[in-house]
Amino acid sequence: MRRIEEVLDGAEKICITGHIHPDGDCVGSCLGLYNYIREVRPDLSVTVYLEPFSENFLFLRGADRVDHTYPDAGPADVCLALDCGDKERLGASGKYWDAAKRKVCIDHHVTNTAFGDINQVCPKASSTSEVLFELMEEERITKETAECLYLGIVHDTGVFKHSNTAGRTMAIAGKLLEKGVSSSYIIDETFYKKTFPQNKALGRALASARLLLDGKFIAGAVTADDLRELGLLPRELDGIVDQLRVTSGVCAAAFLYETGEAGQEWKVSLRANDGVDVSRIATLFGGGGHVKAAGCTMHGEWSEIAGQLARLVEKQL
Ligand code: AMP
Ligand code: MN
Ligand code: MN
Repeated sequence: MRRIEEVLDGAEKICITGHIHPDGDCVGSCLGLYNYIREVRPDLSVTVYLEPFSENFLFLRGADRVDHTYPDAGPADVCLALDCGDKERLGASGKYWDAAKRKVCIDHHVTNTAFGDINQVCPKASSTSEVLFELMEEERITKETAECLYLGIVHDTGVFKHSNTAGRTMAIAGKLLEKGVSSSYIIDETFYKKTFPQNKALGRALASARLLLDGKFIAGAVTADDLRELGLLPRELDGIVDQLRVTSGVCAAAFLYETGEAGQEWKVSLRANDGVDVSRIATLFGGGGHVKAAGCTMHGEWSEIAGQLARLVEKQL
């Protein structure tokens, strides 16, 4: 695919969706594409379906029009799955995907299973937002579309600091800035700003952290009780694992939070420094992601899970 317009050919009804627990890149890419299609093809009917996401993203154009209720809807001519590595991660949107006449997957996960009829998967790209930029006609990207894509890139690169930040990423970010995007607003208000309970959760994760493998692996956790007490939702825990990863001497980090649904079930976020591929570890437990950032769900005592992960990290050292 060279241009997004190609896959819209002959279609009237378009559906856009992304992965469960939508993060900045997922929301930014879905809304960026939504705004772009409304600009270049105002004749089409377009709906975005996503799970509820951080209120920090609500300023993006179109955020208030995202459908979080997953109503029954007739088949779309084209369904686009963004920032999603496999069909299961579409969650409740899977029904729109199954029903769609043309299924298009646009993504950057190295573990992507190419589950679309058309797959535009670029593991070297920092973010799905970056992949989308390359598929758009630059002149037709409005300030509002640019804000969405810029936010996606900022979040998936950890503000241009992760190793997925290439020269091309910076060049694209520069072009988006020239569209009038307020970089400092997006970086401060949507990435760095934390509520008091979020900072307390970071504190608990750091206080619980254990160093394993002679300081080469770190793991920290927050329990379902912590989350209840602090009144936090899982989607408010972004960034904690990144603080664990920058502990000096560490090759890989894990942050676990207990999902309320079933006792002793943990969502595990993994991050690697040079020399470790955490996507391989996450895949062993039915998850996936990128070489340096991946996730999965695991069961048991969290300290045992940490030990199990440490042994897998050790094998790669
Ligand atoms: P997280 O740990 O949620 O910050 O996710 C890190 C990266 O791994 C993101 O790109 C996610 O999309 C991906 N990821 C997280 N959990 C899973 C999972 N269970 N299956 C596939 N990919 C995942
Ligand atoms: Mn994502
Ligand atoms: Mn992404």
